[in-house]
Amino acid sequence: MQIAFDFGAPTDIALMRAGLRSAFAGYRPHNIREPIGQLIKSMISSRTKDEVSLKAYRRLVECYPRWSELAGAPVPDIERAINDVTHAKDKAFYVKETLGLIARDHPDFDLSFLKELSVPEALAWLQTLPGVGPKVAASTLNFSTLAMPAFVVDTHVLRVLARFGVVGPRADIAAAYHAVMAAVPDWTAFELSEFHVLSKRLGQLSCRFDNPLCGECPLRQHCRFAGSAAGARISRSPLPADRPLVFPGRT
Ligand code: SF4
Repeated sequence: MQIAFDFGAPTDIALMRAGLRSAFAGYRPHNIREPIGQLIKSMISSRTKDEVSLKAYRRLVECYPRWSELAGAPVPDIERAINDVTHAKDKAFYVKETLGLIARDHPDFDLSFLKELSVPEALAWLQTLPGVGPKVAASTLNFSTLAMPAFVVDTHVLRVLARFGVVGPRADIAAAYHAVMAAVPDWTAFELSEFHVLSKRLGQLSCRFDNPLCGECPLRQHCRFAGSAAGARISRSPLPADRPLVFPGRT
């Protein structure tokens, strides 16, 4: 049984980053897509393996080389193009709805204006779009060519943060986002992107959903739940539904 540490989130995250960088040295995230492309890619990616969603996204942009063509496509046709992602029908509907809304004010689908907003303002704008929650909004800002400092929390990252002890066992994506952003307010977009990628990798390789491999985990020395049954149960019980990211005092 591990000793219960109480470092506080900034120290926790510094320890996590050091361990992850050392374990996965040389891994570098990329910011390659334009914001609208990253938005659509993120919308179809939830609860789907990366390789599957990437292929689906490529099929989509091959079928509809212009965003206006995708916005005008029938939902069943969009669904067919992404039929191997989870909830393809719902995602196809939301993609079309979102593109239609964006086209009203931005017919060229250029979202570079988001760079002129603060991160909370840009996240709030994105979350007004149908089917866009905190993870998709943060991904659009952080992973795209916008390269804005917004931490992306997916289910793997949330599980790792909860088991390590950065957030409580019942924290949701919004709580984890705020905990990390408050702990490392000066991190750059690249540092946040790297921390996401490395944490996710740990969640896929060692801190797995049903069977955490604590014995081979590079974070086991400092992890609050290393080797414990309580740690293994975290993220197995139903989590609260995603709440939007809200920022008190902002509209
Ligand atoms: S020690 Fe175990 S519970 Fe902690 S982060 Fe690593 S795999 Fe997850």
